[in-house]
Amino acid sequence: METLKRTRIAEILQSKDFGTTVQVKGWVRTRRGNKQVGFIALNDGSTIRNVQIVVPVDAFGEDSLKPVTTGACIRVNGILTESPGQGQDAEIHAQEIHVYGTADPLTYPLQKKGHSLEFLRDIAHLRPRTNTFGAIFRIRHHMAIAIHRFFHERGFYYFHTPVLTASDCEGAGQMFQVTTLNLYDLKKDANGSIDYTNDFFGKQASLTVSGQLEGELAAMALGAIYTFGPTFRAENSNTPRHLAEFWMIEPEVAFNEIEDNMQLAEDFIKYCVRWALDNCREDVEFLNNMFDKELIERLNFVLKQNFIRLTYTEGIRILEAAIAKGHTFEYPIYWGADLASEHERYLVEDHFRCPVILTDYPKEIKSFYMKQNDDGKTVRAMDVLFPKIGEIIGGSQREEDYDKLSQRAQEMDVPTKDIWWYLDTRRFGTAPHSGFGLGFERLLMFVTGMTNIRDVIPFPRTPHNAEF
Ligand code: ATP
Ligand code: MG
Repeated sequence: METLKRTRIAEILQSKDFGTTVQVKGWVRTRRGNKQVGFIALNDGSTIRNVQIVVPVDAFGEDSLKPVTTGACIRVNGILTESPGQGQDAEIHAQEIHVYGTADPLTYPLQKKGHSLEFLRDIAHLRPRTNTFGAIFRIRHHMAIAIHRFFHERGFYYFHTPVLTASDCEGAGQMFQVTTLNLYDLKKDANGSIDYTNDFFGKQASLTVSGQLEGELAAMALGAIYTFGPTFRAENSNTPRHLAEFWMIEPEVAFNEIEDNMQLAEDFIKYCVRWALDNCREDVEFLNNMFDKELIERLNFVLKQNFIRLTYTEGIRILEAAIAKGHTFEYPIYWGADLASEHERYLVEDHFRCPVILTDYPKEIKSFYMKQNDDGKTVRAMDVLFPKIGEIIGGSQREEDYDKLSQRAQEMDVPTKDIWWYLDTRRFGTAPHSGFGLGFERLLMFVTGMTNIRDVIPFPRTPHNAEF
């Protein structure tokens, strides 16, 4: 006899081969019923929907069904049958049930429905088994695919930048140090400084805060590249929008000016949002109904809008006008100040009601590598600000002039000796170029409607939290 092959539940629910024998494997969501007939809702992660298993209790014997409780993993052979229930296409009339693993109802934490997101964070090893996190992690996968497709279709190359780095010109104070030195027996020199010559790399090393600098090297050869990798920032702030370990996508494009960079950012986000609506419909609908009734509306809204483009200076004027009219902010705002999330969200949610790309920031609050404007005060930075999120993208046109770049680096105390290789791109065949960084989890917050970034990454790392 030919052995029966397992079918994924996503396919079972589409199938019209009623009367055939099928096999499914998955985790029991619920079991209910009476003395004659039992109903098992089974999920295998291939879709948010469960398949209903109908069990003739007498034929099986009540005892043999006892281990089939919420959380148990089972294999079912049975007849695929058209379901009389509304909204269900197919169910399975069980002939044989095998229990792979039981889940004791007294200790299995996912018993009742409607656990809080906070509680589920404490059991992050089990939360993928809930409808909510199944949906989120399926969407996360599809968004990663969308990102690769977007760039691949446009002739960008996926370029891998290092995770371990010995230059800290970007993230002073925010970097996680990496060492093989024995911390219990640290040798210091006469000045009290640590001698790194005996460390693994012979110098101080850290986890990357951005792949941009290396990405620029590649753009100056391959034309258009993007990175997509883990990024580490020792952010002390415990906010709902920051992780210590997150994923960042960083395109970098030779010959792009700031206007091209803005268009790329807008096209890119819209492509991803459209992808979610087209490829993750059931999961997005579930999240819409469970958590955020305006989610789908907001996604469609963003697709229709042309993002507002506005200079920082104009943005400050709007915020000052808001204050004059009686609006209050927690943090002070004036020309030269960095925008807090409340300011960004005021512009997006209250004033324009539309995504905003803010450009031309004061040079003092932006990085040394951003292209300087002729006014001597501002640089060609661009931040994309989104409803509910605030900053989702940060980018700029890069300074391509060697003298201006190295002078600005010195002014900002960037240790240029560590990035001689970066400065070299401006010595040999320099060109105008631009790029940006999109926080993958910020994009996922937007697409899923989740309001805490800890709920869109499987195992979040935040201050004092690295469990799992
Ligand atoms: P923010 O002002 O929100 O802290 P940033 O200006 O430090 O962000 P950039 O250095 O411009 O961020 O990084 C590019 C993008 O990476 C940001 O627009 C954001 O989407 C994302 N990002 C930055 N820091 C984090 C973090 N700690 N956790 C998650 N995403 C982040
Ligand atoms: Mg930024």
